[in-house]
Amino acid sequence: MEVTFLGTAAATACPMVFCSCPMCSAAWKRGGKDLRRRSSALVDGDMLIDLGPDVMTAAFDFGADIRQVRVLLQTHAHSDHFDAGHLITRWSDYAPEGLRPLDLAASPETIRRMSERLSMEEPGASLEKAEWLERLKLRVHPLRHGDSVTLSGRLVTAVESAHDSGALLYAVSDGAAAFLYATDTVRLTDRAMDLLKGFRLDMVAIDHTYGPGVSGGGHLNAEQAAEEIARLRSEGILKPEGLAFAAHISHEGMPPHSELTEYARSRGYEIAWDGLRISLPPPGKPS
Ligand SMILES: [Zn+2]
Ligand SMILES: [Zn+2]
Ligand SMILES: [Zn+2]
Repeated sequence: MEVTFLGTAAATACPMVFCSCPMCSAAWKRGGKDLRRRSSALVDGDMLIDLGPDVMTAAFDFGADIRQVRVLLQTHAHSDHFDAGHLITRWSDYAPEGLRPLDLAASPETIRRMSERLSMEEPGASLEKAEWLERLKLRVHPLRHGDSVTLSGRLVTAVESAHDSGALLYAVSDGAAAFLYATDTVRLTDRAMDLLKGFRLDMVAIDHTYGPGVSGGGHLNAEQAAEEIARLRSEGILKPEGLAFAAHISHEGMPPHSELTEYARSRGYEIAWDGLRISLPPPGKPS
């Protein structure tokens, strides 16, 4: 299984649009790994996690052909993760050609919120109306905490997140490897940990919205992300050789990528960057 990080920023992207803080100024100057698009990820070229606002620019830059995507796992409907303007283009009014059905997995609450956003693009458009699912060539799979569904040959399990009501984390397994996509979370709930104890993960990608010593709502900061990773390892959920990457990174209290990577490595994890491709299980290591 190959996972490509298409974007690794929090909601504001990095640098943030009008900001001249030390992080944003460093990002403008350094470019490269310090330029972060809004978070999303691609699995094996045909499974997309979050149809965010920067998916197309990431696709252009990293050679990802979004036409090949057959499955969309939507964590939640916040605007940094869901761009209704992209999804509505599957409707015939936009003259799309060669569309194949798309399986969409999300919580019922996220589906409702996505529908509200779609209706702002086109009055009446909804993921809860059969005629619109037909028009958009979508198959919707409502998932709640603990539900699993096999999509495009991979087992997808929904894990609750206390980030926002209806937000989900996803564990994805293809039989040879498994990973957890956990942006937009606070500390994992007891129910989430109980469910994850059934997994032996090769990788986790975890929320790291705020820098060291900065606390904000609905997300993890650097220390908390390190603690959650350590907890996943000590419970045996993340394999000893399993990879841990921070993603969903804002500018707040954040050092630039190279310094942040040094900070993270001293605490047992890595910092993802846009365009990073990871093969799972990690090559050369027993699965
Ligand atoms: Zn977010
Ligand atoms: Zn800034
Ligand atoms: Zn969010």
